[in-house]
Amino acid sequence: MRAQVMTEYKRLELHEDFPEPIPGPEDVLVNVEAVGICGSDIHGFDGSTGRRIPPLVMGHEAAGTILEVGRDVRHLCVGQRVALDSTVFCGRCENCSQGRINLCDHRQVLGVSCGEYRRHGAFAQRVAVPARIAYPVPDSVSMEQAALAEAVSVAIHAVRRSNPRSDDACLVVGTGMIGLLVVQALRASGVRSIAAIDLDAGRLELARRFGAVATFKADDDHLGAGVTAWSNHLGPQHVFEVVGAQKTVEQAIQLARKGGHVVLVGNVSPRVEIPLQRVVAGELTLHGSCASAGEYDQALAWMADGRIDVAPIISARCSLSELSDWMERLYQGIPNTMKVVVLPNA
Ligand SMILES: [Zn+2]
Ligand SMILES: [Zn+2]
Repeated sequence: MRAQVMTEYKRLELHEDFPEPIPGPEDVLVNVEAVGICGSDIHGFDGSTGRRIPPLVMGHEAAGTILEVGRDVRHLCVGQRVALDSTVFCGRCENCSQGRINLCDHRQVLGVSCGEYRRHGAFAQRVAVPARIAYPVPDSVSMEQAALAEAVSVAIHAVRRSNPRSDDACLVVGTGMIGLLVVQALRASGVRSIAAIDLDAGRLELARRFGAVATFKADDDHLGAGVTAWSNHLGPQHVFEVVGAQKTVEQAIQLARKGGHVVLVGNVSPRVEIPLQRVVAGELTLHGSCASAGEYDQALAWMADGRIDVAPIISARCSLSELSDWMERLYQGIPNTMKVVVLPNA
């Protein structure tokens, strides 16, 4: 089959005769119809994250049609359209048995190789994965949209970490793709008072379209006063930090209401300093939020009923052979590009 193989850092090669994946008894073989290029693929492309050791087929935001089911698979059948979770969990460890599959002790990620394991991903015509990470896609959701189910699940999981009530003021710091999905997930959960902060006016415009009632430019000198005024002079009860840099983490903590919650989703910088006194004296609760744990069905249901709209987030589509050019361009950085979706069998 055809696959884009990262043969060395910063080099993708189209292989025409990459070995066909062979599904095990608990697996399904999926014809990959759409797969998103993730920021982690772009960052991993140069070796800086240590999680994309070549040779590797990357790609973990995939959707497609089942071609084959393993002999122990009962709940899925050939021909079904499915979206794949990126987290391959064991289903047996302590965390898995409590439903916290994102914290599985034996967690693997599709399209990642980090030294402990190598699991080829979906920048290929076909991929074999455990059936438990494949979720049926409703008819009204296209395969292209379904490839974003992973990102939507991440956003819903972030919202569930602090579980805002409908009348709580919620602030999203950073309206890149995940931030915009957090805005939508908040609205879909019934939250009415949503605000967003970003440097980019175009993204803030999208945030408003997706349900933010107030938006603030991150470089506005009166940002703090604006956020405070918007939230009845108390500050937001819930702040979602979706960047993961020193400045934005600090901002998120400073802006939260006393007794409020800060959900940390972004992690661009592995280490940041936090305003400790603000956290301690204000009794803030900080939550980490990683991937998702059981939010797929909700994500697909909200995509099907239109409460979450991913279409405006898809910036471009490309074929498998065009992927290497796109990776290169995304690595160099192109403005106004959110999600690029690869169509490996188009
Ligand atoms: Zn990803
Ligand atoms: Zn586990």
